[in-house]
Amino acid sequence: MMRVDFVSLFPAMFFSPFDDSILHRARENGFLDIHILNPRDFAFDRHKHVDDSPFGGGSGMVLKPEPMFRAVRFLKETTSFERRRVLLMSPDGEVFTQKKAKELADYEQLIFLCGHYEGFDARIAELADESLSIGDYVLTGGELPAMVIVDAVARMLPGVLGSEMSAPTDSFYNGLLEYPQYTRPSDYHGRLVPDVLLSGDHAKIAAWRRRESLRLTFRRRPDLLEKAELTEEDRKFLKRLEAESAEEI
Ligand code: SAM
Repeated sequence: MMRVDFVSLFPAMFFSPFDDSILHRARENGFLDIHILNPRDFAFDRHKHVDDSPFGGGSGMVLKPEPMFRAVRFLKETTSFERRRVLLMSPDGEVFTQKKAKELADYEQLIFLCGHYEGFDARIAELADESLSIGDYVLTGGELPAMVIVDAVARMLPGVLGSEMSAPTDSFYNGLLEYPQYTRPSDYHGRLVPDVLLSGDHAKIAAWRRRESLRLTFRRRPDLLEKAELTEEDRKFLKRLEAESAEEI
């Protein structure tokens, strides 16, 4: 069971995503244990201030250090896991990837620090083992990024997905985009499913899927090919694709 703690000023944001579908089942079946802690409960003063204006001037409010430090200290004192990771949600963090999801799935406890408003007082970063971003855009808070990350990590926990085979064929798992998938009907108003998928020949189907996966990655995300593990056969096929696209130009 993986324990997940979200440290957030907006606990209600976490309710629905973990109460539906696969994540809900993961909780019910004992794979995920979700907890939410509000730093406001750890604010010093009578008015429970969690933010203040930035030193040096400027617009917006910055999250104060004391409530975050106290909340994280509380979590560390009340839970004991050998393998735990504290993650700060921030647009300046390392960009989250499938590889990182696999890595994080090995921990017993993940603690997410979610910012809001103008973000964290810079000293809060020292609480975290690493900062993560979910992409080059700015959201209103770290709640959605933290949930995006937990969703991706949960899929990597053995047993969470109905079939253990689903994740390894997904996009990014092996460094490539997934091949196109089809289901019934095989003829939808003249739009036909490729014959090979109806052939029942598993070797041929696997070869077709590998090629289509390479083709899609070549067209849409050629940057991924630089790091993907490729066979000689794959490289030959990519050379062909390169030649074809050179001809098209
Ligand atoms: N002033 C900050 C900046 O320019 O980098 C942006 C603060 S943002 C409005 C508020 C909070 O949302 C951040 O502290 C962070 O926790 C979260 N956040 C926003 N965009 C994010 C992203 N792309 N990835 C991860 N967290 C993000």
